[in-house]
Amino acid sequence: MPAEQALSRIAKKVSTCTQCALHESRKMSVPGDGPADAEIMFIGEGPGFHENEQGHPFVGASGKFLDQLLAQAGVTRAEVFIANVVKCRPPGNRDPQPDELAACHKYLEAQIEAINPSIIVTLGRFSMNKFFPGAKISAVHGQMKKIGERFVIPMFHPAAALHQAALKPSILGDFAKLPEQLNEARRALGRAVVEKRKPAEAQDEAPKQLGLF
Ligand code: URA
Ligand code: SF4
Repeated sequence: MPAEQALSRIAKKVSTCTQCALHESRKMSVPGDGPADAEIMFIGEGPGFHENEQGHPFVGASGKFLDQLLAQAGVTRAEVFIANVVKCRPPGNRDPQPDELAACHKYLEAQIEAINPSIIVTLGRFSMNKFFPGAKISAVHGQMKKIGERFVIPMFHPAAALHQAALKPSILGDFAKLPEQLNEARRALGRAVVEKRKPAEAQDEAPKQLGLF
């Protein structure tokens, strides 16, 4: 089945899912957004107030910060897939419970399989725990590890960095490393390395080259 079709089926199933208690207070499910052929997939925790209202991930305050972080990595939202470990909002933004994580896991798995990203970036400890059980985020953040068919990089959750100023330089630094890590992952996976140049850089370079002659 084409990846796009697989993703819309998953989203449809999620919208009527009643397999954990989170469906009871759901206004909108938030399956995740992004292109089916995204090279990078971000996995957060779960929908908050605004996400539950709008049905899209990271549209509140931490979403604004995530946009800045993506800019730091030279990528736009339109290029990446953004999902969460639970697709319905935990009431009052409480932590997702083990039974809820377990019930929702299959949807995330199916999304990963359909998208087949080169890199998964986990945001926060709940998504990190899926790939690095028992790891301490303060010790492993920003470090890329090959897990099965792809690479996984654990990072702090943007909301944590918003509330603890001391984490901000770490998360900014981790996002700044992402372009190089993506090229490294592409090489290791035998995928094409596309050196992207920002239009501003290309413009800067042109007069310099002309000056050589
Ligand atoms: N925080 C998350 O982890 N996910 C969202 O979608 C929004 C905020
Ligand atoms: Fe279903 Fe996941 Fe929503 Fe629970 S959080 S009701 S498992 S879609």
